[in-house]
Amino acid sequence: MDRGALGPLLTTVLDALAAGVTRRGGPIPAVSPEDLAAEIARAFAPGADPSPELDSGRSTSGSTGPGFSRDPGRDPGRGSGLDSGGGDPDALRRLTEILAYGSADPADPYCAAHLHCPPLPVAVAADLAVSALNPSMDSWDQAPAATALETLLIDELAGLVGYPPGAAGVLTSGGTESNLMGLMLARDHVLGRATGRRVEVTGLPGDGPRPRIFASSVAHFSVQRAAALLGLGEEAVVPVAVGDDLRMDPGALAAELAASAGRGELPMAVVATAGTTDTGAIDPLPECARLAAAYGAWLHVDAAYGGGALLSDRLAPLLDGVNLADSVSLDWHKLGWQPVAAGIFLVRQAETYASLARRAAYLNPADDEDAGYGSLLGLSLRTTRRADAVKIAVTLRTLGRRGLGELVNACHDLALAGAAAVRAHPRLELHTEPVLTAFLFRYLPTDPAAGPAGPAEIDRVNAALRRRLLREGRAVVGRTELPGDGPGRVRLKLTLLNPTTTPEQIERLLETVVEAGQAEEAR
Ligand SMILES: *Cc1c(COP(=O)(O)O)cnc(C)c1O
Repeated sequence: MDRGALGPLLTTVLDALAAGVTRRGGPIPAVSPEDLAAEIARAFAPGADPSPELDSGRSTSGSTGPGFSRDPGRDPGRGSGLDSGGGDPDALRRLTEILAYGSADPADPYCAAHLHCPPLPVAVAADLAVSALNPSMDSWDQAPAATALETLLIDELAGLVGYPPGAAGVLTSGGTESNLMGLMLARDHVLGRATGRRVEVTGLPGDGPRPRIFASSVAHFSVQRAAALLGLGEEAVVPVAVGDDLRMDPGALAAELAASAGRGELPMAVVATAGTTDTGAIDPLPECARLAAAYGAWLHVDAAYGGGALLSDRLAPLLDGVNLADSVSLDWHKLGWQPVAAGIFLVRQAETYASLARRAAYLNPADDEDAGYGSLLGLSLRTTRRADAVKIAVTLRTLGRRGLGELVNACHDLALAGAAAVRAHPRLELHTEPVLTAFLFRYLPTDPAAGPAGPAEIDRVNAALRRRLLREGRAVVGRTELPGDGPGRVRLKLTLLNPTTTPEQIERLLETVVEAGQAEEAR
């Protein structure tokens, strides 16, 4: 990478980010979706003029242009677009600035809706190095060092999960892809064993017992989607009942497995969630493992959120039993402070990866592999693949497990403090104590003249107050629904992933929620 070309552009980016953030002035821009889309369209239009409010901090890059050309005499010039085929050297500044202005900023303490973390600067910087070097993980000769580094990182993460030597894994786009991979290997392994066929080659058998997947009723929707993609159908997923704490009820799992086997079906996989997306509830992993083993089913643990607990001595015991899983999903773009994407898929035994192995003459010919030029192609669903391992490896070494664990603990403390503030507030109702770094709650409207609001009205006010906060650019809080039927299930959610946020800021955020609730109630 030509430092001369990249350096001035980085200055442009950093200046434009600062200008956009200043203009936003909050966790999300106070703008309607239509107005924002119109402004983006103006900025994206060929030859767009910088709008007055966007024209702050504009820097003209020096003698080097934005592209490959190093000829200072051939600056393409602004004012021409696709129609004339011309370029626009200001596009980087203009679009970066509007992107920063129009972003939901996970580094803002009032942006606390989703499993959407503020990335660590060191991880962003490492990711920039990856963009500049552009290794691709599908063959050794496109990524010599990154191939070796990903292999070492996977070994280390397998150790973190408690896997013995002989584990394997790969970096993924996230929990969705990791869950698909876990269930694909489950299908090939368990259905293959039951039918004596290589299902990945011959396809699903038209006869024989119906394969079923058991996951809690609040498991991530990617489980159903994976079942659909694997040809099993979404209805292959048996929803297992949860308790009030939204953890899978092991008695219900035992009963569903027994009923399924009684119907002559094939219990193919149990998916245990270690940290549900909404509340961080952790299914009873040892019981799930015992029951899966008793029925010959694959155990996949979806630890996309809760896997971060493994970094913390305080919270790691919550995941006891995760090492019993046949496969695990982790997401370091959640409790790991990485830029998207930083998904990890692990299997306990490398042999179970067999059905995914691929030989492509142009990527990993056998004689190259025999000569030591091994590639990771056969570990991934993807071919061209970004070196997402690099930023994770850099982060792990820069902060250490202990440093990362302190960030996890800080977010856990914040959630405990936030939940205590909710409990202390007469107009707020807590759902359950936080397990990890998130909790559900709601605003309770109590217009004294109207008497206590009914469940449908409480739902309306909570949904509306959240949109009001978005519209006013004041806060981004989550909104979800508890499982079940009928009104009264809408809940607000705080997902706390910013370790620098203070408990006082969370208290003020909750006050802001109450103010918005009162404003909606009055409508
Ligand atoms: C976020 C999440 C997923 C999906 O992961 P992506 O990285 O968004 O693909 C799956 N399962 C759980 C429990 C999650 O929290």
